[in-house]
Amino acid sequence: MDLVILESAIEPQPDADRVASLFGLGRTPDGWFAEAHPKLRPVETATAGVFLAGTCQGPRDIPDTVAHAGAAALEVVRLFNQGEVTISPTVAVVNEEECVGCGECILACPYNAIARNARGKAEVNPALCHGCGTCVAACLPGAITALHFTDEEIVAQIDGLLETYSVVRIP
Ligand code: SF4
Ligand code: SF4
Repeated sequence: MDLVILESAIEPQPDADRVASLFGLGRTPDGWFAEAHPKLRPVETATAGVFLAGTCQGPRDIPDTVAHAGAAALEVVRLFNQGEVTISPTVAVVNEEECVGCGECILACPYNAIARNARGKAEVNPALCHGCGTCVAACLPGAITALHFTDEEIVAQIDGLLETYSVVRIP
């Protein structure tokens, strides 16, 4: 054996659901918080600026936990040292005139990036939005648009692809 652990089984904290929902964190099948990528982004989460350290991600021994916490701390320092944060321009925007305030997009957004504003309309926080497009599909009145991925732009891309494909197939 490389490692023998004499310890009773551990499981996620009882409030893990609430914390995951608050920060838009992914979960493993066992309920631990999930990293963005196990090899390439082991302390990052799907929510920019939120990092994981220690046993919130699953059982770990002490050296592993300390190394993990150090890596998470470095990520925070790196973020602060940037001075400013660049966010993607591919975010969702709400047309308030078409929004009926049903809240479906708020429920659908996996990153908690949408909330109701003072007028009862949905409003996207561009710093949290990942541009996934889930809210666009969830909004029945069609009040949300994903910038740079409007219906017209997607149809134009499909037309372009079909045109290229026809040129290749029919010389
Ligand atoms: S789903 Fe559409 S209509 Fe409903 S709150 Fe969201 S933006 Fe408004
Ligand atoms: S595009 Fe995705 S992340 Fe952005 S507000 Fe819509 S559902 Fe949320």
